[in-house]
Amino acid sequence: MIRKTLPPIPPHPSKEQMENSKKRQEACLTKGKSSTNSPMSYAQATNAAASILKIKEAFPALPNKKILEIHDVVFPKPGNKGRRIQHTTRGPFRKQAIIPTSDNIKDIIMGEANAYIFQINMLLKSIKSMTRAEFIHPCSGSVSINMNSVPNTSNLNTIERYLKSINSAGNDEVLAPWLPQSKSYLKITSIPYIQPNGKKLTGDDITTTMKNLELFEPVNLTAKPRVIKASPKSDMAIIWFDIWDSQNDSKAKLLINHSFNFGKYIATIRATNMNPRVPQYHNCWKWGYSTFSYHAHGSRCQKCNDPHKLEHHRDLAWCCKVNFKLNPPRLETAKGEPCPHNFKCINCKGEHMADDNKCPFWKHRFNREWHSKKAQEARETRANSTHLAIGSIKI
Ligand SMILES: [Zn+2]
Ligand SMILES: [Zn+2]
Ligand SMILES: [Zn+2]
Repeated sequence: MIRKTLPPIPPHPSKEQMENSKKRQEACLTKGKSSTNSPMSYAQATNAAASILKIKEAFPALPNKKILEIHDVVFPKPGNKGRRIQHTTRGPFRKQAIIPTSDNIKDIIMGEANAYIFQINMLLKSIKSMTRAEFIHPCSGSVSINMNSVPNTSNLNTIERYLKSINSAGNDEVLAPWLPQSKSYLKITSIPYIQPNGKKLTGDDITTTMKNLELFEPVNLTAKPRVIKASPKSDMAIIWFDIWDSQNDSKAKLLINHSFNFGKYIATIRATNMNPRVPQYHNCWKWGYSTFSYHAHGSRCQKCNDPHKLEHHRDLAWCCKVNFKLNPPRLETAKGEPCPHNFKCINCKGEHMADDNKCPFWKHRFNREWHSKKAQEARETRANSTHLAIGSIKI
């Protein structure tokens, strides 16, 4: 009832509207860019002719072919510089405040998310702000509040003060909110995978080195760097790391193509395309790039791979249901008990669920070569079994 006093929240743009506006923006951007392969304009052609004449006047004895060659060296044509690596995300999506919190405070907030949204909106109204909180969702080490517009500093301070008053949370339990920024994707090359002490290189080794280097001082990592072997037979590593950045990738520019000492080696930082990881589909739990139609069949359970969500596994899966026809008969799992049965991972056949981080498919999620080798093996196994099946048909 009190909620009626709240001002109406403007509707969120629908997915379709967002996509249309994105398309319009992209169309504007492409229009603005001059194509490197486009023919010369009239003005460009006149300038080129004038400069050729000047060279001819200065070196009258030279043959025409030589003059054209000199012209091309002095005034090179804008060439196609190759595909640009897209290493910074478009963003930022700033109608959102991220507030780092302890797990305890996060649980308290998420337990009564609507009540907290209501209180936050009352406080925002009291400071005469038109910005309103819409919903809260939990993130790793923080809660994220989606707003109806970009929150300003006084909005953020109000939210921070209020959340700090929950359970008289200490200063270390709720930290200052911040707005999501763009991310840049980078990699480090030229470091051996096996270190001189015989141990495998880890993300922590890289973080420790970065902390001691001035080059990385202005940079904040979004997560721990990830180390993979450059290829299955290589002894070198590739280290992927992502940094918080501005939209014009000013932080990434400080690092790209710079080198630093890593022990006795010289490591180099390069830009990399966004999302280098191999995707795992959250409806079928398969890895890689399969056809759309395969993935459009709806959610599958990461435990038994039947068509239901994991939270409904106990109620819907055959394994927990009574079956007297079996020998010995199967009894029903006691009411309220979780499913005690084991299933094999659909990807590696190991004793874990398909999305477990123990799974070798998950461990190699940044190694495209490993994944494509596995996909090839799976295709060969399927082809062989089909061949055998056809061979066994008696005509
Ligand atoms: Zn299931
Ligand atoms: Zn079961
Ligand atoms: Zn597995």
